[in-house]
Amino acid sequence: MNDNFYKPVIGKSLAEKLKIKIKEKDDKSKRIAELIMANKEIKFQSGEKEERAAELIIANKEIAFQSGEKEERAAELIIANREIAFQSVEKAERAAELIIANKELTFQNEEKGRRAAELIIANKELTFQNEEKEKRAAELIIANKELAFQSREKAERAAELIIANKELIFQNEEKGKRAAELILANKELTFQNEEKGKRAAELIIANRVQGEFFVNISHELKTPLNVIFSTVQLFDMYCKSGLLDKKQDSIIKYTGSIKQNCYRLSKLINNIVDLSKIEAGFFKLNLSNNNIIDVVEKLVTSVTSFTESKNLSIVFDTNVEEKIIAFDLEKIERIVLNLISNAIKFSDAGDEIFVEVSDRNEFVEISVKDNGIGIGEKDLDIIFDRFKQVDNSLSRNTEGTGIGLSLVKSIAELHGGSIDVKSEVGVGSTFTVVLPSKNVSDENMIYDSNMKNRNESIKVELSDIYS
Ligand code: ADP
Repeated sequence: MNDNFYKPVIGKSLAEKLKIKIKEKDDKSKRIAELIMANKEIKFQSGEKEERAAELIIANKEIAFQSGEKEERAAELIIANREIAFQSVEKAERAAELIIANKELTFQNEEKGRRAAELIIANKELTFQNEEKEKRAAELIIANKELAFQSREKAERAAELIIANKELIFQNEEKGKRAAELILANKELTFQNEEKGKRAAELIIANRVQGEFFVNISHELKTPLNVIFSTVQLFDMYCKSGLLDKKQDSIIKYTGSIKQNCYRLSKLINNIVDLSKIEAGFFKLNLSNNNIIDVVEKLVTSVTSFTESKNLSIVFDTNVEEKIIAFDLEKIERIVLNLISNAIKFSDAGDEIFVEVSDRNEFVEISVKDNGIGIGEKDLDIIFDRFKQVDNSLSRNTEGTGIGLSLVKSIAELHGGSIDVKSEVGVGSTFTVVLPSKNVSDENMIYDSNMKNRNESIKVELSDIYS
C-alpha cells in the first residue's frame, strides 16, 4: 500500500489542489481497482487454498484410510503367516505320517505279493479240484439221469399200482357198501317182515278183540232192549186184557226195570261215544277249580243206597278237608263212579269198599280199594286196553264191554294224570287215579252241586251192577 494515499494536500492552489485531488482520486480508484483485483486475487487464492485444503483433507483421509487398510493387511498377513507356519508344521507331520504309511504300504504290498503267490498255488489246487469235481459232477449227472430214469420207471409203476389199488379199494368199498346195503336191506326186510308179522298178529288179535267187542256190545245193547221190549209187550197185554189196575204193583216194578235198562243203554252209548271222541281227538275237558275232596266224598255218600242193597259197606277217608284243583267235574265223577261200580260188581256181600283221597302236594291220589275177587297178574297189563276183558272164566260177571277202564285211563291222562292198579286174586284190588295239583285261571264251568243230576248220573254209571 502506498503511504501517500491518504496524505492531505497542503500549501497548493485550489486548481492544483483539485488536480491533485482528482489525481489523488484517480490514484485512489486505481488503487481500489487494484485492491479489488488484489482482493479478487486473494479471494481466488483463498478459494484455491480452500480447495487445496479440502483436497488435502480428502488426501489425508485417503492416506488415513490407506494406513488403516495397510494395518488390516498387516494384521491379516500376521494371521496368514501364522496359518502358513501352522500348515507347515501340519505338512511336516503329514510327511512323517506318509513316510510311515508308505513303509506300511510297502510291507503290505510285500505281504500281498506273498499272498498272491500262495493264492496262485491255491488256485491251481482249486482248479485241479474243480476239474476233479466237474468229472465227478459229470459222472453224477450220468448217474442221476440213470436214477431219474429208474425213479420215473418206479413212479410210473407206483402210479399204476396206486390206480390199481384205488380201483381195488373202490371195488372193495363198493362191495362193502353193497354188502352193507344188502345187510341193511335184509335187516329192513327182516324188520318189515317182523313188523308185518306183528301187524298181522295184531290185526288178527284186533280183529278177534273187535269181533268179541261187537259180540259183547250187541249183547249189551240187546239185553236191556229185550227187557224193555218184553216189558212193553206185557204192558200191551195188560192194556188189551183190561188188567192194568190189577197189575199195578207189577207195572211199577216193570217200569223200574225199564228205567234201569234205559240207564244201562245210556251208559253204554255214552261210553261208545266218548271212546269214539277220544280216538278221533275230539274229546274236550271242561276244567274248573273245585274241591276234589268234597266231590268224591259226596259221590261216596250218594252210592251208599246201592252198596247197602248189595250188602256192602263203603267208607270214605282223606288226609285233608279241602283241596282245590282243576278238573272236569263230570268226567272225574264218571271215573270214580266207574271204579266204585267195578268194586261193587266184583265184591261179595259183607265186603268193604274203601275210597280215599290223599293230598300229596304236587298231586292228588284217588284210590278205590275192594277186597273182592281180585285180578290175576297176567291180566293186570290188559285191563286198561280197549275192548279187553279179563277171561270170563275168572269173572263172575260175563257182562260188560271192556270200555270202562280204558276210558278211565284216557280221562286221567287227558288231565295230565295217570291210573295204576294193584291186585291179588282172592285178596282184592286197589285202583289209584293220580291228578296233578294245579288250578286254571279261566274256568270253563262253575261247579253246581246239583243232586238230581248227580243221582241221575250215578244211576247211569251204576246201572250194570244189577244185571
Ligand atoms: P267193563 O266196562 O266191561 O266193566 P272195565 O274196563 O271196567 O270193563 O273192566 C275190565 C275188566 O277188568 C273187567 O271185566 C274185570 O274183569 C276187571 N276188573 C275191573 N275192576 C275190577 C275189580 N275191582 N275187581 C276185579 N276185577 C276187576
